Amino acid sequence: MQQRAESFLPGGVDSPVRAFRAVGGDPPFVERADGAYLYDADGNRYLDFFGSWGPMILGHAFPPVTEAIQSAAARGASFGASHAGEADLAELVQRCFPSVKKMRFVSSGTEACMSAIRLARGFTGRSFVIKFEGCYHGHADALLVKAGSGVATFGIPGSAGVPAETAMHTLALPYNDLAAVELAFENHQDQIACIIVEPVVGNAGTILPAAGYLQGLRELATRYGALLILDEVMTGFRLSLGGAQELYRIEPDLTTLGKIVGGGLPCGAFGGREDVMNFLAPLGPVYQAGTLSGNPLAMAAGIAQLSHLIAHADVIYPHLEMTTRSIAEGVAALAAEVGISITTNRVGSMFTWFFTPMPVEDFAQAAMSDTAAFARFHRAMLDAGVWLPPSQYEAAFVSMAHGPEEVAFALSAARQALAAVW
Ligand code: PLP
Repeated sequence: MQQRAESFLPGGVDSPVRAFRAVGGDPPFVERADGAYLYDADGNRYLDFFGSWGPMILGHAFPPVTEAIQSAAARGASFGASHAGEADLAELVQRCFPSVKKMRFVSSGTEACMSAIRLARGFTGRSFVIKFEGCYHGHADALLVKAGSGVATFGIPGSAGVPAETAMHTLALPYNDLAAVELAFENHQDQIACIIVEPVVGNAGTILPAAGYLQGLRELATRYGALLILDEVMTGFRLSLGGAQELYRIEPDLTTLGKIVGGGLPCGAFGGREDVMNFLAPLGPVYQAGTLSGNPLAMAAGIAQLSHLIAHADVIYPHLEMTTRSIAEGVAALAAEVGISITTNRVGSMFTWFFTPMPVEDFAQAAMSDTAAFARFHRAMLDAGVWLPPSQYEAAFVSMAHGPEEVAFALSAARQALAAVW
């Protein structure tokens, strides 16, 4: 299967980190997924800790989501015209994210971030964008500067094919360093359109904001007349129903969403202040569009997933927190027993084990991790039936389908993996 894929697809994949180059070996080919597990074409079962990179917060093939998709598909896969499902999903998004007064649906997180940046530039009439090292906002040209995720995995500083003229208005600064942001604003007076940030970084592995950091970004953006964009593609509906902005009490000007909002179907969204959103065509001068935007299947899947999250939030978020803590801290304790120092970064149901004894609070510190040790651990965990994200620079996720049985399985696999490798 790998050879066949390679004969048609570069690296055999449609997205680079899936190729397992950072951890070695061929990636398993998934035949089906159910609950907390993936099943490959060789008949192996894996406990899944990447959840399709985030969307599958309720587990794979969650019946209400599956049924919603099936029923929508029977009514037509795509209309390219208005339908009630768009406002239905928008209303649920707004209930979770009160700062999102108006929004627009797109087909990916990349589109959401790319469109939010264009809108911020159009609204402010300014060109520069502040982003942070190790943060990934999708693969649009202007955002592939010192990006995380696959860009960090392969040690690429940017990407070939991005003209210098396109990237010259992107200022990439260290995360968790407010002084660097203030200096950038001082050096580019009235030129910075927006700050875009992953409020909790997931794409350099998990990195938490220092106390007061996000508030500081909010304050600086306001002081210098720039917009604050929180990229909640990963954190939205995951850290809490209202994402990182609810958890850390930050009101951004714009928010980008993806992953969970589409219930596993291709979907993203961007939204926020009404005066800013009204700059979009057909009301305003900023152009943005999409053949499949607001796709009825994606809306149906999102409505089913968000409805369930909203109805059961009081049970879901404490469960995710408890399960993730047991796994993240349990494995770190097992590693310590065999003399391996792992730094565990975790918030809610996203976490990373960095193979370094030092704290990890920015990308430079994440890059100190022993990635060869991570690769050995990844491989051994896979052999023991646990599928972690195949790069040190990706967050792991826990779903509602992970319960006590899965915690016990993960810990016993980790014990086996650690014994095999160290
Ligand atoms: N923003 C963040 C924080 C992400 O984690 C990702 C993808 O991992 C994106 C944007 C891009 O989303 P997509 O892969 O749906 O284009």
